[in-house]
Amino acid sequence: MIEVENLTKRFGGLLAVNQVSLEVGEREILAIIGPNGAGKSTLLNLLSGLLRPDGGRILFQGEEITHLPPEARTWRGLGRAFQIPTPFPEMTVWDNVLVGALFGKPDTSKKEAKRVVEEVLELTGLTHQARRLAKELTLLEEKRLELARALATRPCLLLLDEVMAGLRPKEAREAVEVLRRIRDSGVSILFIEHLMPVVRALADRVVVLDYGEVIARGRYEEVALDPRVREAYLGRSA
Ligand code: ADP
Ligand code: MG
Repeated sequence: MIEVENLTKRFGGLLAVNQVSLEVGEREILAIIGPNGAGKSTLLNLLSGLLRPDGGRILFQGEEITHLPPEARTWRGLGRAFQIPTPFPEMTVWDNVLVGALFGKPDTSKKEAKRVVEEVLELTGLTHQARRLAKELTLLEEKRLELARALATRPCLLLLDEVMAGLRPKEAREAVEVLRRIRDSGVSILFIEHLMPVVRALADRVVVLDYGEVIARGRYEEVALDPRVREAYLGRSA
């Protein structure tokens, strides 16, 4: 689905992302983990096109997208949900999701858009909130809306940045179920997450970043035991 080769991003003298290579397969769920400041969000911003890399390249479904603007990536099937939800506050939940549906595939008919919105609201558990204004939602509902809006663009690969942050354990478990259903519907997922039970429950594979570099990769059980990974986390919190 996506192949990243030697991706690099500098902010002045700081190497935020340093020669990162990874790939996500069809219907695969890949987790990116690592301590604060490791470069996880920067990597996601490079993939979605919010930032331009200083080196390396990105292939999406075999086609190079390294220098495409974000909207061109969305139209090709790259969906993105942000760590801090950014709904249109004065619009209803329905209209927020409709914007995603129409923006993601601009030639969508009114009838098709309505079908997509209904399907996505159902999948994210927001059907009964459809007529409410986005600004009236709770944090959990707001996060669901952020996900719904990304899904409405009909991505083949969904990029998620800490979408579970701030959720209670029960809510996070529900969100894991929602993401599983999304994958089962044929969507690949690349997600950043610091809640390890969520990573364990969801990820097929894990990539660990520290100071912008990949320091470990593999199944959750493997990377969790890796001495470099343990040191990266313990060293930082100590
Ligand atoms: P993470 O998401 O893993 O916590 P980030 O990707 O947000 O890490 O940040 C990686 C490093 O890059 C940090 O040191 C951060 O301060 C720095 N950084 C991130 N964005 C910018 C920016 N726009 N300008 C300058 N430095 C940045
Ligand atoms: Mg981050």
